[in-house]
Amino acid sequence: MRNAITHNEFELYYQPQICLVTNQVIGLEALLRWNHPEKGMISPGTFIPIAEETGLIQNIDKWVLLHACLQQKQWQELGYLPIKVSVNLSMIQFQQPDLFDVIQSTLKQTGIAGQYLEIELTESVMMNNPKLTLNNIEKLNSIGVEVSLDDFGTHYSSLSYLKKLSPNRLKIDQSFIRDMLHDTDGQVIVQAMINLAHNLNLKVIAEGVENKEQVKFLHSQRCDEVQGYYFSKPLPVEKINTFIHKRAHLPN
Ligand code: C2E
Ligand code: MG
Ligand code: MG
Ligand code: MG
Repeated sequence: MRNAITHNEFELYYQPQICLVTNQVIGLEALLRWNHPEKGMISPGTFIPIAEETGLIQNIDKWVLLHACLQQKQWQELGYLPIKVSVNLSMIQFQQPDLFDVIQSTLKQTGIAGQYLEIELTESVMMNNPKLTLNNIEKLNSIGVEVSLDDFGTHYSSLSYLKKLSPNRLKIDQSFIRDMLHDTDGQVIVQAMINLAHNLNLKVIAEGVENKEQVKFLHSQRCDEVQGYYFSKPLPVEKINTFIHKRAHLPN
């Protein structure tokens, strides 16, 4: 993994995020893939935890940030309608004192305005410095960069993070969406999460949406945005470009 960056073994895939009101693609989440020369494609679920343990995550997250912004620049130059690009950052990264400077200088270097970048924050490790984390979110907001709380509901401290960090968006974890239509409890929980977000003036997105029934239910509950295999799997850049071109011709 130490050599993966210099050996060009990392690649970003992108998964569309769809607005349930306009039916438009409003965001693309960058998801990291590692093309290992012998082992083939390794999923981030396998290597990110190791990268976090070894500290390699710092360089990897910086690489992802830079390349997602470079890609965003290319989309803008191609004249794509304004789409946000979402980057996952580990909580470790979020508690670095230089996080804000790294993001700000990456935006400057690539010529991207803050409003076209979003950060997805997940509780991969415990937050040991809530003050610094909150401060980073506030500084990012001041330059237009919004922050989502990823995998919401799965971590024992989800509600306490919500209170301490005041993010801009909640991302309901896919486990809740998967079970949602099987039992009424599942529906009530998702409903409650959507209401919680809206009562706090936050946008809410559901991840792991795999079928039409789920979309219908989420729409009926006024969930703002959706993401999942039902719309598209994460795709390499050429394929995501085709997806966006095709959708642009679809009626709402
Ligand atoms: P995440 O940010 O919650 O991303 C969602 C994961 O769910 C992705 O897995 C995506 O491919 C998958 N997914 C999307 N739609 C569906 C669906 O409809 N059904 C199912 N079953 N799965 C769906 P992926 O790409 O393997 O990423 C796993 C996790 O690894 C991510 O979870 C994120 O926490 C982490 N990760 C990915 N890329 C990066 C990165 O660049 N930096 C960091 N720090 N973490 C990353
Ligand atoms: Mg994410
Ligand atoms: Mg996650
Ligand atoms: Mg997630």
